[in-house]
Amino acid sequence: MIGTLYVFSAPSGAGKTSLVKALLDSTGYIGVSVSHTTRAARPGEVDGQDYHFVDKAEFERLIGEGAFLEHAQVFDNYYGTSQRWVESELAAGRDVILEIDWQGAQQVRRLMPDTVSVFIAPPSIEALRERLGQRGQDDDATIERRMRDARSEMSHYAEYDYLIVNDDFNNAVEELRAIVIARRHRLEAQQERHASTLQALLND
Ligand code: GDP
Ligand code: ADP
Ligand code: 5GP
Repeated sequence: MIGTLYVFSAPSGAGKTSLVKALLDSTGYIGVSVSHTTRAARPGEVDGQDYHFVDKAEFERLIGEGAFLEHAQVFDNYYGTSQRWVESELAAGRDVILEIDWQGAQQVRRLMPDTVSVFIAPPSIEALRERLGQRGQDDDATIERRMRDARSEMSHYAEYDYLIVNDDFNNAVEELRAIVIARRHRLEAQQERHASTLQALLND
């Protein structure tokens, strides 16, 4: 059985990265794709772990090679998802999360219609601004740029299968967890996982 591909999108600062981290700590193995980006690393970000940080020439070379499942320009930088890693994880039966913007989400849905997509919204515009500030990793101009783009990201929320409002953090983690757990209990997955139990139940 191939793994499930999840796409999570949110305006920058809504809490996507923190939620994914908490989800992984509580829900068993899910791989998180490490994107390539041309933006500069934030203090504390590790190359190969948070992102593969590359310059524009290298990014364009990778596009030419067909290395990306999807790529898009977000704010003033390029971001892209490595196709090879995602496909090999899914083929090995492991679930994978992509944290990508709405443009990437559209591309992935088109290529892989079984994708489960989740939009994460902040509880208010004020909360979003506060979180971007509190994260303390972007300068004022960058925060303003991200606030300007937040409405355009949010205008795509209805294209997603699920919507989570990240007001109380722990509630939002539980809601995300519920989506993943429900998905893992779909009939086809359970039939494969519990084949011998089901056979015994029917035959005894
Ligand atoms: P943060 O979300 O505020 O932590 O900011 P980032 O700089 O990490 O990400 C900026 C934007 O790029 C977000 O909207 C992400 O969803 C998007 N993004 C990150 N990686 C990818 C990717 O591989 N592909 C696409 N299409 N978008 C990405
Ligand atoms: P994103 O990856 O969507 O840009 P982050 O996960 O970096 O967002 O979160 C932005 C900031 O908001 C971080 O400082 C994080 O600790 C904080 N945050 C996330 N979720 C909540 C929440 N529910 N309530 C308050 N603060 C939050
Ligand atoms: P940040 O630069 O703050 O880490 O991310 C900003 C935005 O870029 C986030 O909203 C994130 O979803 C998006 N993003 C990160 N990686 C990718 C990617 O590989 N593809 C796309 N399309 N968007 C990405």
